[in-house]
Amino acid sequence: MRIILLGAPGSGKGTQAKMLVEKYQIPQISTGDLLRAAVTAGTPLGRQAKEIIEGGNLVSDEIVLGMIRERLNEADAQKGFILDGFPRTLGQAEALDPMLSELNWAIDSTILLEVDPELVVKRITGRRTCADCGQMYNIYFSPPAQADKCDKCSGELAHRADDTEETVRTRLSIYDEQTAPLIGYYEQQTKLKRVKAIGEINDIFVNLCKVIDAQ
Ligand code: AMP
Repeated sequence: MRIILLGAPGSGKGTQAKMLVEKYQIPQISTGDLLRAAVTAGTPLGRQAKEIIEGGNLVSDEIVLGMIRERLNEADAQKGFILDGFPRTLGQAEALDPMLSELNWAIDSTILLEVDPELVVKRITGRRTCADCGQMYNIYFSPPAQADKCDKCSGELAHRADDTEETVRTRLSIYDEQTAPLIGYYEQQTKLKRVKAIGEINDIFVNLCKVIDAQ
């Protein structure tokens, strides 16, 4: 099964993707995670991307497409995947189609997680992620039992450098300009499904799975 999750920053793509990984046993491919790993590892690509990410801007299509091409070749992606945060521009979407055709693959579900922009700022600025196990929390909506400690593994909770209010506003306007046109792109191909991403995480997940299973 091959899935694309579209949605504004803070629409819950990462959270839902992690739940889909467990249910469908396919990997989450998040270009944001791949880029952050490169930044942490201090690779040349990571050094190039650091400032761009922290400013809330988009890394070039060329870099992101190179990363995706490599990632799709890995063994675990052969049985399917969830693309989270990619494609993010029309250029990326237009390059993805032939990349998949070459591999004789097609996307089964392209799903837009729809969210109220008012909610997004709180969702993002409140976001915390366990540095050890990746479990996600939100200090406003789903806080950990103990401040800054993971309920699952007691790891330290980290706040992403690009989750500040100022950067979130930049990321939202970039989403409107560069990523929102993908909605029309996939609608034209009659591939787009929509799921409301407001309310309880588990309820959103149930609706998301219904859409995926109906394909
Ligand atoms: P995310 O974790 O998906 O919110 O991504 C964090 C940051 O990584 C974004 O704000 C961009 O700077 C960069 N990034 C992630 N995915 C892409 C992409 N597909 N194209 C360009 N930049 C990306």
